[in-house]
Amino acid sequence: MKCPYCGKEDNRVVDSRPVEEENSIRRRRMCDACGKRFTTYEKIETIPLMVIKKDQNREQYDREKLLGGILRACHKRPVPVQSINEIVDQVENEIFRRGEKEIQSNVIGEIVMNHLMNLDPVAYVRFASVYREFKDVNTFMDELKKFLKTEPEE
Ligand SMILES: [Zn+2]
Repeated sequence: MKCPYCGKEDNRVVDSRPVEEENSIRRRRMCDACGKRFTTYEKIETIPLMVIKKDQNREQYDREKLLGGILRACHKRPVPVQSINEIVDQVENEIFRRGEKEIQSNVIGEIVMNHLMNLDPVAYVRFASVYREFKDVNTFMDELKKFLKTEPEE
């Protein structure tokens, strides 16, 4: 993706949203070289992305469902809706960029968890407990310890 102003390839996505009617994603980009901003439209796969669930059944990828799961994890947490929408956008960017027609549900779950970990620890653990189906409190504590390990040690 070349910058239309200076022709350099290095730029970052500053905003990203799906344009449903045109089946594409609108992205605001910022050039690392000259700092100018520009908009690109990228086609997303027209064949629907299928999610492979744990029981091997397939269902069509559903943004609302993903959003709902993250909203539940963030219930009564100081997390702006804007941040949640950004996470969904980032997750979609990652899963659609793979260019595959099917994706394991746990792969999506791991991507979501990576983003939630940086956003809110409670939301992260809640989401992880649903996604990984913690059987007992020990599994839950292991996950919590893993998270706490990412904190800098004194
Ligand atoms: Zn530029």
